[in-house]
Amino acid sequence: MMISDCFAINDQGHLTIGGCDTVALAKEFGTPLYVMDEDKIRRNCRMYQDSIQQYYQGRGLVLYASKAFNCKEMCRIVNEEGLGLDVVSGGELYTALQAGFPAGRIHFHGNNKTREELSMALDAQVGHFIVDNLRELELLDALAKEKGQVADISLRIKPGIDAHTHEAVMTGQIDSKFGFALETGEALEAVRFAAQFQHVNLKGLHNHIGSQIFDIAPFLQAARVMLNFIAQIKKEVGIVIEELNLGGGFGIKYVDQDRPVPYGDYMKEISLAVVETCKELSLEVPYIYMEPGRSIVGEAGLTLYEVGGVKEIPGVRTYVSIDGGMTDNPRYALYQSDYTVMVANKANEPADQVVTVAGKCCESGDLIQEHTPIQSVEAGDLLTVLCTGAYNFSMASNYNRIPRPAVVMVKNGIPRVVVRRETYEDLIRNDQ
Ligand SMILES: *Cc1c(COP(=O)(O)O)cnc(C)c1O
Repeated sequence: MMISDCFAINDQGHLTIGGCDTVALAKEFGTPLYVMDEDKIRRNCRMYQDSIQQYYQGRGLVLYASKAFNCKEMCRIVNEEGLGLDVVSGGELYTALQAGFPAGRIHFHGNNKTREELSMALDAQVGHFIVDNLRELELLDALAKEKGQVADISLRIKPGIDAHTHEAVMTGQIDSKFGFALETGEALEAVRFAAQFQHVNLKGLHNHIGSQIFDIAPFLQAARVMLNFIAQIKKEVGIVIEELNLGGGFGIKYVDQDRPVPYGDYMKEISLAVVETCKELSLEVPYIYMEPGRSIVGEAGLTLYEVGGVKEIPGVRTYVSIDGGMTDNPRYALYQSDYTVMVANKANEPADQVVTVAGKCCESGDLIQEHTPIQSVEAGDLLTVLCTGAYNFSMASNYNRIPRPAVVMVKNGIPRVVVRRETYEDLIRNDQ
């Protein structure tokens, strides 16, 4: 079984993605190369949207967290699927608007939106602002007033859930740069504060407890904490909060040992917890937002590299050098993320060698994976890293003046370039 259902092995023993032979893709488009399976992305979008239909009678919207993978074509796909879009910067917003994404379905996040970004978003009639702090609240109200608008907002709340401990424990979690803390009373204060402004309309609350989470429990706990807060606001401030954003963070399968909960199960359990808690608290079920990023695109992508030197250091390890590295995938260098690697042109052979995959940057830490099993590998082979659809292209850099790879989208076995490969000319475009 493959890590993701969009990967397979063909008669020639080559790895395929979305029905396309990776060896042929590398030949046609060059390496390094990001490849994404459009059908897989669309299936993931629908799975989330369907669960909103099923559990909330359609009273909710899935927002794709575009920081996971953002380019114009991705925005078009998300729009066609009827989802909303999260952006966290002027650049992500600009990309979405240029792709024709309806501004009304865009939610603007971020812990330090600048005056220029807020102004740009108001001018574009962005549908929703997730306000992180009091300074932003004041600034947004003032800007909206100048422009004769009223901005719909949610407040970002730290529910005090630590999703990364095995048990869902209530922790301080005050030590986060995002949002208003519940347990100090800061969040309630912010609600009272927001209620006084004329040019912001407090519609909702938002929380996001982390990323690559495999447990359902912390999500359920966060939902209950948020609903209790909504009940408290109703009682003590007299405001009805109509919308609840439950965030993203659903884990995906990078390696065999990963055991992600099927998203349908997540959605079912969270939805039941929301409906049940509302009943207990005599609250109307709020309009629900979910914000998956990684789980929409992560397993839908892979990266292809050509192998250069293979350096065997007896008694130490074997380094396999590839023609990309931390510039196109900084996640191992950043936080030792697990990945599955393969020799794409020998995909049906046993992975009986253990190697370290190294990039071409001038950094010893430029590694993609250490001590990882792989098929017998030699110079000229096509090496692939699986499940790189999220937080790879979007985190890429030009370190060492390495041009960013192209992104190829595959649909029904037909590939097309959706982001062209950077050229050397692109690299000096802004140099004076
Ligand atoms: C990053 C982020 C997401 C998406 O997280 P994933 O782990 O990619 O699903 C959702 N909401 C907010 C506020 C985020 O910052």
